Amino acid sequence: MITADYHMHTHHSGDSTAAMEDMIQSSIDRGLTDICFTEHVDFDYPECYEGVGKDTFTVDTHDYRNEVMKYRDKYKEKIHVGFGIEIGMQEYLVKENSAYIKENNFDFVIASQHLVSRADPYYKSFWDSDSIENLYNRYFDQVYDNISLFDDFDVLGHLDYLTRYAPEGDNTYSYERFSYRIDKILIYLIEHGKGLDFNSKVFVGDRVLPPNPCPQVLSRYKELGGRIITIGSDAHNPKAVAAGFDRMRDIALECGFSEYYTFKNRIPTAHSL
Ligand SMILES: [Zn+2]
Ligand SMILES: [Zn+2]
Repeated sequence: MITADYHMHTHHSGDSTAAMEDMIQSSIDRGLTDICFTEHVDFDYPECYEGVGKDTFTVDTHDYRNEVMKYRDKYKEKIHVGFGIEIGMQEYLVKENSAYIKENNFDFVIASQHLVSRADPYYKSFWDSDSIENLYNRYFDQVYDNISLFDDFDVLGHLDYLTRYAPEGDNTYSYERFSYRIDKILIYLIEHGKGLDFNSKVFVGDRVLPPNPCPQVLSRYKELGGRIITIGSDAHNPKAVAAGFDRMRDIALECGFSEYYTFKNRIPTAHSL
């Protein structure tokens, strides 16, 4: 059974209004005993989208830490509350991102690629800008470039997640189609002791989509010698906590995993699935 959700957001993230205590309460109600908040930090987010700007995804880290510590203590008999971060990678931010991680003693660091050439796949304009093939290739190339430049993270966030925003009707994504680029990423992670965030965010909406990475990529990671996976709902509200974790467990087992990981002070611990 999965009793740890290692990807969660609260009001400290620019795209969530959730109260931290509500997220904790929901986690306890769902039988979790260990969670880690991973608020968004994306320095220099492009200002070209309505309602978002340069500082939309920055965090008052001092406030955030204080709130985690307050609830860690309050709920210590019921659940462990971790202090993590989801840091957005861009090639020219390596120095800034590295300094930020070094300055703050996080329990756990997810490195995510939320932008492709400074454009956000969440928006339709991204998909209008080029062919899907080119956009996916560019995304995988930039993920590889970023993880080979920026080293201070534990797991790569939601690999292949942009496929969930592809225009309706495009279901042409598969591991096979992008295997050369995906393998490069997976091999790099394995050789550098990094893991994968196995992300169930899609299990909340009405569209039927695979988790990220998709099962074929997760299998391939295992086949290549990958060991470390963390399980995360990427919840931005209390209802989404631990979304689809039974299915996530089944998929992970089918892909050959028998364990998942949690992190404290950046040190991984294995748990039976
Ligand atoms: Zn993310
Ligand atoms: Zn997230």
